[in-house]
Amino acid sequence: GHSVRKLNFGAGPAQLPYELLENVKDEFLNYHGAGANIMELSHRSSTFAKVIQDAEQDIREILSIPESYAVLFLQGGATAQFSAIPLHFLNLKPSQTADYLVTGYWSEKAAKEAEKFGKVNWVVPKGSKYQGVPAEASWKLSADPSYFYYCANETIHGIEVDDIPAIIPKDVPIVCDMSSNFLTRPFDITKFSVVFASAQKNFGISGVVLVIIRKDLVEKNTNKSIPLILEYKIQIDNGSMYNTPPTFAIYIASKMFAWIKQQGGLKAINEGADKKSSLVYQTIEQSNGFYVNFVEKKYRSRTNIPFRIVTNGVPDEKLETLFIKEAIQSNMIELKGHRAVGGIRVSLYNGISVKEATQLVNFMRTFQTNNS
Ligand code: PLP
Repeated sequence: GHSVRKLNFGAGPAQLPYELLENVKDEFLNYHGAGANIMELSHRSSTFAKVIQDAEQDIREILSIPESYAVLFLQGGATAQFSAIPLHFLNLKPSQTADYLVTGYWSEKAAKEAEKFGKVNWVVPKGSKYQGVPAEASWKLSADPSYFYYCANETIHGIEVDDIPAIIPKDVPIVCDMSSNFLTRPFDITKFSVVFASAQKNFGISGVVLVIIRKDLVEKNTNKSIPLILEYKIQIDNGSMYNTPPTFAIYIASKMFAWIKQQGGLKAINEGADKKSSLVYQTIEQSNGFYVNFVEKKYRSRTNIPFRIVTNGVPDEKLETLFIKEAIQSNMIELKGHRAVGGIRVSLYNGISVKEATQLVNFMRTFQTNNS
């Protein structure tokens, strides 16, 4: 049972709620009397059709997604969307330019990919380190961009942009990568043209990326040279089943959507995300400089919290190694920071409970007491 499980604070693929795994286990050999696992059934079967339809219905309900938006379950991860978006929309307007707000590793990747296909305006100059978002007054926006792109949560740098920046004119289509904070807070989908998120952080396992997209925008695409597998229109017309979809990953996502509803929807999830992240940030704040997070307070991520352990004013890699080692001995894994920033990273996705986050901060406090 529970006792064999370790607590996984990794950035993804991430830990799933225990009760969800138990439920999957119950259905593993015989899905609702089908005599097979869902992953062994045809994507054209009525059994799978119900899974994907329920998933779509639940996510539409959770986010109040109107019919004017398509909900797609695609493959290739969020990374495939880095290409699909400029291929469809870069030349939507006469400016033939898209504005990219680069705030970290992932938006930088997206901007560089878009540059393969046309003109990209970097709203803020490329920085060497990412520790916040430059003041809007310094941004260089295009006059009439085809779209404005940003990443709502930079998974590696721990930078979160809570809401659409106010400076963007209302008529500019907004495209947002929400991979690492999707379904951790409510948001108004009607303010966006495209939202996409990989499942393996907050709503399931790798293999599926959710794309929520304005249907009228898709109709405006004039590029005839888009690879079939990336074409939104084809996937919309075929209910995300132009080719064989990632059936098992969609099944897990449908379970996560149902789980989110059971928790009380995004309002409850949002409160939990606040509680979990506050626990960690408070522990950092109250450590008198033993733990240091370098991100500007306003932009601190609730889902990915990178920090360093500092002695005599400098990051102490030996102590960080000891922290990770002792955490493992306490059954807490995947706390090593990304190599781009070093140190420790705590990821607090939907599969982590408040109780589990509390366990981690208790460990952090004890570790500090023993090592300072
Ligand atoms: N965008 C963000 C914010 C991410 O954190 C990640 C993966 O960690 C990606 C995009 C890429 O997702 P995938 O590996 O599913 O393509």
